[in-house]
Amino acid sequence: MKRFLLLIVLILSFACKENRSSLNAEKNATEIKNKKVANYGIAIHGGAGYIKKENISDSLERAYHDKLKEAITKGNEILKNGGSAVEAVKQTINVMEDSPLFNSGKGAVLSHAETPELDASIMDGKTLNAGAVAGVSTIKNPINLAYEVMMNSNHVLLSGKGAENFAKTRNFKLVNPSYFITEKQLKNVQRIKQNENKKQATFYNNDINGTKFGTVGCVALDKHGNLAAGTSTGGMANKKWGRIGDSPIIGSGTYANNKTCAVSGTGWGEYFMRGVVAHDISALMEYKELSLQEAVEKVIYEKQPKLGGNGGVIAIDYFGNIVMEFNTLGMFRASYINDKLIIEI
Ligand code: ASP
Repeated sequence: MKRFLLLIVLILSFACKENRSSLNAEKNATEIKNKKVANYGIAIHGGAGYIKKENISDSLERAYHDKLKEAITKGNEILKNGGSAVEAVKQTINVMEDSPLFNSGKGAVLSHAETPELDASIMDGKTLNAGAVAGVSTIKNPINLAYEVMMNSNHVLLSGKGAENFAKTRNFKLVNPSYFITEKQLKNVQRIKQNENKKQATFYNNDINGTKFGTVGCVALDKHGNLAAGTSTGGMANKKWGRIGDSPIIGSGTYANNKTCAVSGTGWGEYFMRGVVAHDISALMEYKELSLQEAVEKVIYEKQPKLGGNGGVIAIDYFGNIVMEFNTLGMFRASYINDKLIIEI
């Protein structure tokens, strides 16, 4: 009997030890996953699509490189000086909106009517406050109006003329829609329209024909531990009927939550909306406890392709981990973390 009891005690203490060591392993894994890798950081994208380094000239590659560098450096300086993630996101996006290189602000793709119809959104991960505008054509920097909607209205998404009227109440100087139109984008939409007549191509063929999507986005973590995300776009070339994509839709093209991450997407908007991509990444982290990398990979390499969509995202979490993944041929992107700048085309 004594021996039997001793055996039971031995088995129990062994089981407890096993249990403790597996708990310790789990704890270590969580600690590694949750280790702060940087106090602040920033990432940007300049659109995903059918871009190959080989397909663009050296001078164009240099132009993209320099503009991405200028934009992200602006945001990084703001963060370095203790500025907020929201401010960094807004001002970084402004640099790209003002450049004709990207599909946002000046140089945005044009609709079937050959007009600019711009969309943008911004979200503060601390408060879950958000603002967005869709289909505006007189706002030089749509991300600034999205910010105004977030800060100074009771709404999240304003569209078209109404959004522009709101802009006037916030003392925005409106620009003529012709400001946004570049020769390149005019030719682009006219070429798509010609092809459309020939073979019933739809608006997304602009990518298949070799034109990138080109939306811009930014995600940031500031020194106060707050996350923010923003996205600004002209949408998709040759769009009709007031089409609006994922970029101004909170949860689809943009999402930020201090509990999880900040995400900005680029790609075929209809699928990003159907997959609620940006929020899905956050939800996988919150409810399934996936790491940022795991969550992004699941959505970009499994869920989106299964649905038929393509594109990419940039994302950052509270710990300063940055993830930039895409299932298209390329994505203009850059990250700045711990004084290390990476620019990839
Ligand atoms: N997602 C954008 C849209 O569908 C396009 C892009 O990312 O370039 O409007």
